[in-house]
Amino acid sequence: MNQKKGKLFVFSAPSGSGKTTIVRKILEIFPELIFSISATTRKNRDHEINGTDYFFISEEEFLEKIDNDEFIEWEKFYDYYYGTLKSFVNSKLDEGLSLVFEVDVKGALSIKKSYPESVLIFIVPPSMEELRARLIKRNTETSEDLKKRIERAELELSYKNKFDYLVVNKDLDQALNEVNRIIKLEINEVMKNGNSSY
Ligand code: 5GP
Repeated sequence: MNQKKGKLFVFSAPSGSGKTTIVRKILEIFPELIFSISATTRKNRDHEINGTDYFFISEEEFLEKIDNDEFIEWEKFYDYYYGTLKSFVNSKLDEGLSLVFEVDVKGALSIKKSYPESVLIFIVPPSMEELRARLIKRNTETSEDLKKRIERAELELSYKNKFDYLVVNKDLDQALNEVNRIIKLEINEVMKNGNSSY
């Protein structure tokens, strides 16, 4: 068994909950945490960098990786595939590093199945109305996509009780403080026990 055990912090939330902002800030606050770079078949958005935000690969490559059992978990949304790579995660854990994941709810539960010591954190929007308003304000989606994202948000919210921690993102600073506290607590547990859940 690996003695230098890192921790796995898995974040999920419906789109529009502020999850990406929270994850980015957490990575700045804890430079020792490594972002788990997923593979995806969707095209990169303007600001996204291959090998930093995602590994952007073709559908053919993705399907080959599924056949070769290279994923801890994978899902398909909005016509694109997304998956967590075994090689990436295991090499970091072997180095004793802790990881941050940003995946959908099903992905989070699959990661917990493979790595029971994972800490699952669900970022909750204050209400469905607020979420709808944020998605409309963000204005990055067509109305058809917006409808799909709202339906998906309702589905994702129904999984929230399966998570270890729920953090309501009403106020970003407050939500960040809460996540900060959880991570410190969990990292201290690892140092005390080598491997522990809360
Ligand atoms: P986006 O296209 O907005 O970057 O991501 C769409 C959804 O895919 C988000 O909920 C994101 O968290 C999720 N996602 C990103 N990478 C993975 C992954 O490796 N596995 C799973 N299951 N979901 C992922």
